[in-house]
Amino acid sequence: MREHAKSSNAARASSAERTSSAGTIYKHLEREILSGRLLPGMSLNEVALAEQFGVSKTPLREALLQLAAVNLIEFRPRQGAFVAEIPVSRISQMFEVMIGLEAHCASLSTERMTMVERKALARAAKECDSWADKGTEAGVDRFFDADNAFHQIIFEGSHNAYLQEVASNLHDRLTPYRRYRLQSPSRVKVSAEEHHRILDAVLSGDAERAAAETHTHGTIESALLCDIVSSLTHSKVEGLTREKLITAGEKALPRKASHR
Ligand SMILES: [Zn+2]
Repeated sequence: MREHAKSSNAARASSAERTSSAGTIYKHLEREILSGRLLPGMSLNEVALAEQFGVSKTPLREALLQLAAVNLIEFRPRQGAFVAEIPVSRISQMFEVMIGLEAHCASLSTERMTMVERKALARAAKECDSWADKGTEAGVDRFFDADNAFHQIIFEGSHNAYLQEVASNLHDRLTPYRRYRLQSPSRVKVSAEEHHRILDAVLSGDAERAAAETHTHGTIESALLCDIVSSLTHSKVEGLTREKLITAGEKALPRKASHR
């Protein structure tokens, strides 16, 4: 009886351990995918990942199944696990919703933001400028984080917790793709300028203009991004490099920018 209790305790402990390591792996891979460090279409080598995390295949498999359940990765027959690729048409639809939500957040933010939040938004816009001005690869990476912070402040400024939650979730899901368009250094500069137009509208209390400027910012980025993603559609995953993204981004930029 005592032996039985001991072995079931051990089984429980090892199952708890497995759950926590599956949870840790899940969180790590989720962060890597949502941040765009693991690019859509990339292959996930299970042997290499098990080694990297120092775990057996079981918790790794559990983590991958959980990621597949929320559509962050996909299993391809006889090929294994890959970071999920969202079709261009779907990305475009998601952006359409995102732009509407962001514009609505900007309008509400103009009316509801506290002084502290307005100051935080101004600081975030300046932070974007400082990274955009660097014109370096590291600057582009930091701009991406500053850009996220700028938009998060607008979501929070809406003072509508549900809207903030929906907008943040969708924003997160689009993050790997948003990172594509920000590989283009010239786009980063223009993007920073657009933030100032949004900021100016918010600070001057013009909700309609804040929504319109946010809409323009999102629409340019969405069009640019869909161009980049389509031009990469046939790229082999192994060949999907930062250089390719920059080339695709620069090619897409002048044509879209001339629409403004
Ligand atoms: Zn932005």
